Formats: sequence, C-alpha cells, structure tokens
Amino acid sequence: MINMILKESEITGVMVQYFKVCKRELWFYINQINMNYDNDDIEIGKLIHENSYKREKKEIRLENLVFDFVKNKNEIEIYEIKKSSKLTIGGSYQLYFYLWTLKKSNINAKGYLVYPKEKKKKLIELNNEIINELNEITQDIIEIAKQKKPPKPINKPYCKKCTYYELCMI
Ligand code: SF4
Repeated sequence: MINMILKESEITGVMVQYFKVCKRELWFYINQINMNYDNDDIEIGKLIHENSYKREKKEIRLENLVFDFVKNKNEIEIYEIKKSSKLTIGGSYQLYFYLWTLKKSNINAKGYLVYPKEKKKKLIELNNEIINELNEITQDIIEIAKQKKPPKPINKPYCKKCTYYELCMI
C-alpha cells in the first residue's frame, strides 16, 4: 500500500467522525478500501437520509465540508442527519469539525445532530477545549494517512455493525 499524503485542507468531517470511532476504519476510508456493498445498516441509513427533511435543501458543499442541510435564521444552523442516537461521539465531532472550520472563516454557526426515526435533535456547540482537541485530531489524521498498514482492530461492540467486520475479525 502506498502511503498517502493528506493535506490539512483535504480533511473532511467524515474522517473526523471515523477518527473518533475507529482509527482503523479511518485508514480504510482514506485509502478508499470500500466494503459498503452489502451492509443493510448503510442502506437503511441512506434511506433515512434521502426521505427525511425533503423540503430542506440537501447537501450543501463548501470546499471540504458537506452539510446535510443548513438553515439561516438569526444565526447559521447546520444539520447532520443520523440513523441512531446510540453512537453519537463520531457525529458530534463531525459537526464540531464543521463549526470549527467555519469559525476559522469568521462564520459563527450552531450545529444540530438530528435523528428522524427517534424524532430527536441534539445541539452541538464549540468550546476552547474541543478546538484544541480538533487541532490535535487533524494532525493525527495526517499521520494515520501516512501509515502503510492500518491500525490494529479495536474489537468493540460497534464492530458487529461495521462494514469492515469481516476484514477485521475473520
Ligand atoms: S470492524 Fe471494528 S476494528 Fe474493524 S474497522 Fe470496523 S470498527 Fe474498526
């Protein structure tokens, strides 16, 4: 495997999400090793994504950022649609990354994780501690991209739902 040179400007919210959930999954994603073809959870997730908030404008792209949708009230609100609130850490950091990147362009925004199936939403706001952590995360992602081999499997309950389960555990 050729080691990947990833620039900071190429880091995406999905990479930050994977970093928080599993660094091995992040490495597979960066190296475009794709196992999504027969994972029912991903199909269900896509359906929820496509059928929820149909009236809102979908997938706003801004350089390396992709928002599920944006509302511009007194303040900009960015929304990320998720299938389940059971594993929120990755999605929260994906939104923190978007808010931080916007902040660096002097755009203050609020973020919301939304769970259409559960009719729930969660407010995500930046603070200095998270900003410091994001600085470290982006540098760590660049280092993981350079590795010639993936990090070791983590073997957590989440693995059973992961598209790479067979690759990691069998
Ligand atoms: S199966 Fe587990 S260790 Fe392997 S990539 Fe998925 S989450 Fe990571």
